[in-house]
Amino acid sequence: MNTEMYAALLNAEQDRLTEELATVAVLNPSTGDWEVRMDDQDTNEADSNTEADDIESSVERTSLLATLEPKYRAIRHALAKIEAGTYGQCEICGKPIEPARLKVNPSARTCELHMNDEGTLPLV
Ligand SMILES: [Zn+2]
Repeated sequence: MNTEMYAALLNAEQDRLTEELATVAVLNPSTGDWEVRMDDQDTNEADSNTEADDIESSVERTSLLATLEPKYRAIRHALAKIEAGTYGQCEICGKPIEPARLKVNPSARTCELHMNDEGTLPLV
């Protein structure tokens, strides 16, 4: 299949997610994992309001990271499949994923028949 269009979509989405992730997390180059930024916890402000704000913002960061990181990983996985030549194949039945589905979700791992089973696939 012609993966050029999907590669462009995935690369654009990866760039967008990387920017968004960078606002709350730091990429650990040795593990490839995003880790929540804790930099403002190092400030020595004794003001209890500020401390409460810090806790709240670290919870918010953790929750945003928990939303964004799986998307980021799914995109990396899809790009790796393009490299490997297996992009566009359902990971459950091996059949081609419908182009309409890939256009909406270029990182889809399954065909429409198996879309409800995508959550049962091993994490990437
Ligand atoms: Zn399938």
